[in-house]
Amino acid sequence: MDANDVSGELASLHYTGAEVQARVKEIAAQIDADYEGRRLLLVGVLSGAVMIMADLSRAMKSHCEMDWMAISSYGAGTQSSGVVRILKDLNTNIEGRDVLVVEDIIDTGLTLAYLIQNLQSRKPASLEIMTMFRKPEALSSSVKVRYVGFDLPNEFVVGYGLDYAGRYRNLTDVGTLAPHVYS
Ligand code: 5GP
Repeated sequence: MDANDVSGELASLHYTGAEVQARVKEIAAQIDADYEGRRLLLVGVLSGAVMIMADLSRAMKSHCEMDWMAISSYGAGTQSSGVVRILKDLNTNIEGRDVLVVEDIIDTGLTLAYLIQNLQSRKPASLEIMTMFRKPEALSSSVKVRYVGFDLPNEFVVGYGLDYAGRYRNLTDVGTLAPHVYS
């Protein structure tokens, strides 16, 4: 579905599906160049990163492997607490591997900080982060992000893997959810 299918449910549109796809291609080319000759493992964080993982990996010209983690954040409502529980761990031993974590969005960066600390303890050869979207608060996080798709304002956005109550993940465009949807 695209923004036309949910037009009354979005307060504003930030990026169209076409803009997202164009940016994904640029980042894929950058990753191809940066990891040339290396054996790259992409680690996706379920469930939001499903769309970006599928598009990014297919836009790449070089081989990559993929694995997934599922985590749950303890915290009230839409606020991240940084206290994280692993619901599904990796199938891959990442010791000595070049690992690129693929994220949908970074807000406070608290979830990612926990994840990176956890993965770093497994002694990968390298550990970098790619996120499709980044909110302003992420800039003050201690976690360094190597690849960023787009910056977003501090609003609750949906689409391209980002959900509200399990919906809108399959929206190809990315926009701010209209308040009447959640009030
Ligand atoms: P952080 O720990 O960086 O504050 O939170 C990151 C997680 O919160 C993301 O992986 C995502 O699941 C969720 N999140 C943060 N901002 C948004 C948003 O605007 N929309 C949606 N749907 N999820 C968000």
